[in-house]
Amino acid sequence: MPTNTRIEIEDMITVGTLAERLSIPVSKLITELMKNGVMATVNERIDFDTAQIIVEDLGLDISLTKKSNEKTKEFLRKKSEPSSKAISRPPVVAVMGHVDHGKTTLLDKIRSSNIAQKEAGGITQHINAYQVNYKDRYITFLDTPGHEAFAAIREHGAQLTDIVVIVVAADEGIKPQTVEAIRFAKKAGVKIIVAINKIDKEGSDPNRIKQQLSENDLLVEEWGGDTLVVEVSAKTGEGIDNLLDMILLVSDIEELRADIDVPARGLIIEARLETGRGPIARALVDEGILKVGDFIVAGISYAKVRTLENDQGQSIQSATPAMPVTIIGFKTLPEFGDSFKVYATEKEAKDEFNDAIKQQKSNLSKLNIGSNELIRLINRNNQVQEFNVIVKADVQGSLKSVIDSLKSLDNEEVAVRFVGSGIGPVTENDIHLAHTSKAIIYGFNVTLPNTSKQQAKRDEVTIRQYNVIYELIDDVKEELSRLLKPEIIETEVGKLTIKGVFKTTKTEIICGGEVISGKLQIPSMAKIIRNKSEIATVEVSNIKKGSSDAKVVYEGEMCGLNLKTKQKLEIQEGDRLVVFTRQLQERKL
Ligand code: GDP
Repeated sequence: MPTNTRIEIEDMITVGTLAERLSIPVSKLITELMKNGVMATVNERIDFDTAQIIVEDLGLDISLTKKSNEKTKEFLRKKSEPSSKAISRPPVVAVMGHVDHGKTTLLDKIRSSNIAQKEAGGITQHINAYQVNYKDRYITFLDTPGHEAFAAIREHGAQLTDIVVIVVAADEGIKPQTVEAIRFAKKAGVKIIVAINKIDKEGSDPNRIKQQLSENDLLVEEWGGDTLVVEVSAKTGEGIDNLLDMILLVSDIEELRADIDVPARGLIIEARLETGRGPIARALVDEGILKVGDFIVAGISYAKVRTLENDQGQSIQSATPAMPVTIIGFKTLPEFGDSFKVYATEKEAKDEFNDAIKQQKSNLSKLNIGSNELIRLINRNNQVQEFNVIVKADVQGSLKSVIDSLKSLDNEEVAVRFVGSGIGPVTENDIHLAHTSKAIIYGFNVTLPNTSKQQAKRDEVTIRQYNVIYELIDDVKEELSRLLKPEIIETEVGKLTIKGVFKTTKTEIICGGEVISGKLQIPSMAKIIRNKSEIATVEVSNIKKGSSDAKVVYEGEMCGLNLKTKQKLEIQEGDRLVVFTRQLQERKL
């Protein structure tokens, strides 16, 4: 058997090839897979994660590494290093923080005071990315359904934001979602600016927040650290110019630049079907200039760009780096998080598109078991409790965020099972599916037509609608917690030494003893200890103090007691009773 070997394998590998590479018989590998609930024949493929688990289970001293697919890597790589010809580009900023700390108000305030031209009829459309003009420079803001979305993009190896503004309400301080946002931003390696918001409110205490920040590894500049902090009020507008100045300062220090004389590429940040307009994709250009008439491929979707629109819905001819743009012309909906790239000719784009489709088909035909799925299979015998859900959301980006966040709640005991998901209102079909699969429907930013409402009532299907992703996640967490078996908590209340045994039957012992510590009460349980080992657990059903019944006796007191047993027990003088109470405690996820 090879020792300390590193073996490189592809993302997917056939069972036969893997056995060969590991120098073990195919039958051994198949048996191990079966033990893990994976039924695969010699020619079927398993994914990298499965292979890794199996190699560990087999106890082989081999470490597997993933062979990188050069093409994918090239396509999804991080923003390329700009050349010497690169020009400066606007920063891309995301605003994160705990719910109700003022993210939306802050973004609205920034947008309404710094937009070059006001849209007719005010800001009505739902836009998840836009640019503001401040001191003749542009800043791109992303309104995010949750940082899970960013995490999902990052998993693909790409980076969306340059700066994260973490909003903390001065009157509430750091909350769990603030900590999550800090952790996320640090992991993503982006610059952090903390906006202490609501300073207009009475009782706001910015210094307390700075203290809390330092407890979370963010030492503010004025205390010798390098975390930038701005005090603002999204309500009155105070301090917002400072925040924008700070954003520009950080982008100057970071020297954010992008090439423009290269084929355009970027990321899809939203995709949805619009009545009358077909598939609509919103994207952020990373480099190059995207133009009307360009041929592009995003994931497994192809487009000849028919129309480009800026963040105000105005038709434009081209989009430059860091500019959010709506692309019309896709034949099918791309996915949130897909990278897109422009090809020089229609033929090149179509070839790439056909390759991508082929790749996807072959992926689907493979036995594609991910690691989560495997954990579930492994635990099938241990009965993982599943919570069935159907998720409906307004746009692809939010749907992906919701699903990704819910998937991360799975553990060895409980799991979310997605019976269905999709974009758009909750339909009667969804309700039918929920009814047959005993699922709960979660709607995120979607409507519930009256017909569906009535159908749900008839079928007794539960529909829960949310506009805040964290609340939706918390709800599912609650449901999953309910599926967790309660924990049994044993609390010792006292000890007693047996001084005499009066009567022993198959189910009962009457004896007497002295409480040597704590107390003895009914009802309670007791462990019988002899020579330091436990010989049985019994129930204390009655206590007598003298000749009368008692509920409780304390240290130093003598008492008579009835013990209920499951089988005949020989209790002896000198045995110890350790008395305890047992409580069921609900567990939380
Ligand atoms: P989000 O959940 O983080 O997007 O928070 P919102 O922007 O929806 O704000 C939550 C609440 O706080 C709303 O009632 C806002 O009016 C209020 N709010 C936001 N910013 C401020 C502020 O600077 N001062 C005061 N007094 N209230 C604010």
